[in-house]
Amino acid sequence: MTQVLARLATGRGVPALLTVGVGTAEPQEVRPSSLFGKVAGDGSVTPEFALAASAALVDDIPGVTPARLDPDAIQPDITTVLRWVDQVRDRLTPEQVAAIDAFLDAGEHVDVTEALAHPSRYASVVGRGDLQVAQAPGLHDGAIETLVRVRDAYRAKGVFAGMASIFGPDGPVPTLTLRPENSPRKAGGINPAYTRLWVRGDKVTGCSIALYADADQQPLGSLATILAHEYWHCLQGIWWGRSWGQAPAWVSEGQAKWAETNVLDEPDPQTAINRRRDYLMSPATSLFRRSYDAIGFYSEIDHLGRSPWSFMLSMYDLPPMALYSLAIASTDYVRSAGSAYFRQPTWGTAWDSGGRALPASSVAPARRVFHVAPGSVQQQSVLPFTDRPMEVTLAAPVTLVTVRGHGRLTDPGAPTPLDLPELRYAILCAPDEAARSGCACPTDEFRDVQPIEASPTVYLGAVGHLAGTRVSVQGYTLESTADRSSTIRSASHPC
Ligand SMILES: [Zn+2]
Repeated sequence: MTQVLARLATGRGVPALLTVGVGTAEPQEVRPSSLFGKVAGDGSVTPEFALAASAALVDDIPGVTPARLDPDAIQPDITTVLRWVDQVRDRLTPEQVAAIDAFLDAGEHVDVTEALAHPSRYASVVGRGDLQVAQAPGLHDGAIETLVRVRDAYRAKGVFAGMASIFGPDGPVPTLTLRPENSPRKAGGINPAYTRLWVRGDKVTGCSIALYADADQQPLGSLATILAHEYWHCLQGIWWGRSWGQAPAWVSEGQAKWAETNVLDEPDPQTAINRRRDYLMSPATSLFRRSYDAIGFYSEIDHLGRSPWSFMLSMYDLPPMALYSLAIASTDYVRSAGSAYFRQPTWGTAWDSGGRALPASSVAPARRVFHVAPGSVQQQSVLPFTDRPMEVTLAAPVTLVTVRGHGRLTDPGAPTPLDLPELRYAILCAPDEAARSGCACPTDEFRDVQPIEASPTVYLGAVGHLAGTRVSVQGYTLESTADRSSTIRSASHPC
C-alpha cells in the first residue's frame, strides 16, 4: 500500500491540508425584507407580528403599527396573513379580534343554504357537494363559471378522492363571496382574492373565497388562476382543520402556486415563471425559508415522476423535516436536486428541471467556481435543505473529490460521458497526465474508486438534504515520496 499511496503526493512539498483551504459555511440567502422572512421555520408567529402584518396587508387595526413593507420584496397574500391571525387569535384582545372580524364581515358572504331556499334573491345557484356557489347581486362576471371550471379541474386531478369518506356527504364545501367594490384594500396587498375558513368549535364547516370586484384587472394573472390559487387554500383548510393556520409558507403558498399552475389546461404562468426563477436563482436558501418560490420544490418532485397531487394535502400536522420527507418519498430527489440547477438537459435529465412555467434555460444560478491546484484543498459545507452547484477546474495532475452527504458529478467534456449520482469518492486524472502515464492512479489500493480521465472542468451538484453535505476537493502531483502517504490518510481518504 505504501508504495502505491506514495505516488500521490502534494506538489512542491507542501502538505495538502495546510494550503489554500477554504472552509465555508455559506450564509443563507434569506430575504428579511419580506414578511415571510420573519416567520419561524415551523410557521409559527407572534401575536405582535400577526397584527403588524395584518395592519399592513389586510386592514387597519386600532393601536397597531403596520409592518414596514419593502416594495421590492415578495409579500404574503391576504390568506396567509389571515392564517397567521388565526394562529394567535386566542391571544388577541377583544378589540383586536373585533377589528379583524369587521374586515371579514364587510365581504358579502353568501349563505348558501339561504340561497338555495330563496333562489329568487340570487341570479343563480350552482353546484352541490364539493362546491356550492351562490351568485349574489354584483358578483363578479364569470366568477361562478370560472370557479366551477376550477372545481372540475381539481376533481379531474383526483384531489377529492377520499374526501367524502372522511367528511361524509355533508362535509365542508368551498363557497364564493364578494367583497364590495369600495371595501378597504391595502396598497401592499398583492392578491385580489383571499380564503377564509369557517370554524365551529374545533370543526371546520367550510371555507369561502372572497373576491374583490376588480379581480381581473390585477396583474397577477387571470381570474381562473386567482381562483385556482384560493381554491387550493380552501382545500388545505378543509383537510388540515385547525392546523391550517400553522402551515409554513413553503407548504401553504408553495403548494398553492404549484396547484394554480398545474390544475388548468391553459395555465397563466407568468407569475409562476417568476417564482420558479426565484427558486432556481437561490439554491442556498433553505427550503424552510421559502414561500411562493417553493413552487420550484414541488416542480422538481413532479419532474422526478411523483405527482404532487398525490401527497400535497397530506402535508400537515408534522414537523418541517417530516413534511419534507413525506414530499420527496420514493423519488430520486437527493440524487438530482443539486444537479437540476445547472439547466443543462444535454448532460442528462438530472441536470435540468422540468414541468410547467419553467424559465428559459439561461436562468441558472451562479456556480461556485474554484481551481484546484497541486497542493490545494477546497472544502465546501452545504447546509441542510439547501443546494449548491459547483464548477471545478482541475489544475492538478490528480484530484481527489470526496462527498460526505449527497452530490452528483458530471464531466461533459470527458472522453467517456460521466454522470456520477451519490458520489462518495472520485480520483480524477488530468488529460495530459493520462496521456503521459496512462492515468496511472493507484488502482490497486483504491479498489472501489476507479481513476477517471477527466477534462479540465467538472461540475458537481451538492444537496444538503437532512444533515448537510461536505465536499472536499484536493489536488496532487504524482511523485514517489513515500513519506507523504500520511498526508493522504489525513485527507479523509477512502483507504
Ligand atoms: Zn396564497
